Amino acid sequence: MAKRRDFLTALAATGAGLALKPSISLALEGTAPAPAPKKRRRIPWRNWSGSQQCFPTARKAPGTVAELQQLVAEAPGIVRPVGAGHSFMPLVPTDGTIVSLSRLNSLVAHDGERMEATFGAGVRLGDMGAPLAELGQALINMPDIDEQSLAGAIGTATHGTGAQLGCMSSYVSALQLVTASGDLLDCSAEQNPEIFKAAQVNLGALGVLSQITMRNMPTHRLKGETEWLPIEDILANVDSLANNNRNFEFYYIPFTGMGFTDLHNITEEAPSRTAEMDQNDGAETLKTVRDWLSWSPKLRELVLSSYLSGVEKEVVVANSWENYASERNVRFNEMEYHLPREALVPALKEIRQLLEKDFPEVFFPIEVRVVQADDIWLSPFYRRDSCSIAVHRFFKEDFKPYFAAIEPIFKKYNGRPHWGKMNTLSGAELAKHYEHWQDFKALRQQLDPAGKFLNPYLQKIFA
Ligand SMILES: Cc1cc2nc3c(=O)[nH]c(=O)nc-3n(C[C@H](O)[C@H](O)[C@H](O)COP(=O)(O)OP(=O)(O)OC[C@H]3O[C@@H](n4cnc5c(N)ncnc54)[C@H](O)[C@@H]3O)c2cc1C
Repeated sequence: MAKRRDFLTALAATGAGLALKPSISLALEGTAPAPAPKKRRRIPWRNWSGSQQCFPTARKAPGTVAELQQLVAEAPGIVRPVGAGHSFMPLVPTDGTIVSLSRLNSLVAHDGERMEATFGAGVRLGDMGAPLAELGQALINMPDIDEQSLAGAIGTATHGTGAQLGCMSSYVSALQLVTASGDLLDCSAEQNPEIFKAAQVNLGALGVLSQITMRNMPTHRLKGETEWLPIEDILANVDSLANNNRNFEFYYIPFTGMGFTDLHNITEEAPSRTAEMDQNDGAETLKTVRDWLSWSPKLRELVLSSYLSGVEKEVVVANSWENYASERNVRFNEMEYHLPREALVPALKEIRQLLEKDFPEVFFPIEVRVVQADDIWLSPFYRRDSCSIAVHRFFKEDFKPYFAAIEPIFKKYNGRPHWGKMNTLSGAELAKHYEHWQDFKALRQQLDPAGKFLNPYLQKIFA
């Protein structure tokens, strides 16, 4: 039996033998980012996928909170905080000042009794596991990569998966905010509670977070199990899989009828393999198979589905913080909406049907996760247990026609977009989803009356 991490390599070999048609067009060029205007000395800023770029006047990385306060108070134009630049939406771009907290990234304080730890807000998620483990603590849940900064992750309600687990913002117990005037505000359920509820998901629109305190749990190992199954079997058992596993997600591979479930549960078992051995997400080879077999969709389906049904179950036991993330080595643009949990099966079926009817060139899997409700003002999970459905498009290909076709399905099921991922909603449309929209706007206006933190996108939705 083949293993999951081997399957794509083998598929590539299979596909190579079948790539007989010379007329196959790769069609991968197209939307490369525009070059910098001539004679302009500013250094361009780009996000991870290249979908966003700008030419800021200044890029700053203060080394202390005091320096950050001074910088924000004295900056002449718009100020935009940036984390790892992994958001797809235009949250960061400005021709003013971009501020990175990459130097404010260490453990600041911890409380063993409360199981809490405070970090500089610029810390990357992947750099939190080891120092937390030394304290006997671990993050309660994590997303599928760990490149994001902590402030960036909570800024957009970044989530992992788990029917009884909230998004990352829901585990923030306190935060420190540098406001437009350069003042420091400490916020928690006890101190400035309203600002706290607004700042737990904030799009960098209220100020610059300088420190964040996370509520954690004792260190633990996770057993990760990946199993390839017909998509109909996954969908038939989706509720029990979600309810009986700590972390449950699944992927559907377009044009195959096959998907795989990814489960994580706490275990006492010894580590079985290092997580590094399993980091290929397979997209590269799915793309190759798509390119080689684009002349025969039926053959592509046959090759993929017959191969995938023979891939054996894979198990990895590792420290929790080493077992969630995988490397995304093929860049993409992504749209993800959070829908009511009960919409999962009907919405996914509609998306699959549309994709397989109209978009034969798409090779990225559809990713489906579940997230518990919370009570954060701008959280897309506000008072709603949710399922998150994500579609992707190779970064050099035009994502617009595909996403424009899928978005009405998300809207039909009353979906709320991931704040960091592609969507076309206006301020008025967003307002309908958020009971506290006006409260957030009023608070933003009070904290930043001159709009120092509003770039064109935030201006459009909030002002
Ligand atoms: C390959 C890939 C995989 C991903 N996987 C997941 C996933 O599993 N789950 C998920 O939910 N999302 C996922 N995302 C989306 C990503 O988690 C979010 O877009 C996240 O916000 C990115 O964090 P960042 O540090 O890159 O922040 P950026 O994209 O740089 O910024 C995000 C927002 O945070 C604000 N911000 C940054 N720093 C500060 C600060 N110090 N103070 C105030 N505001 C600040 C910015 O102004 C901006 O509004 C993924 C994205 C990519 C590219």
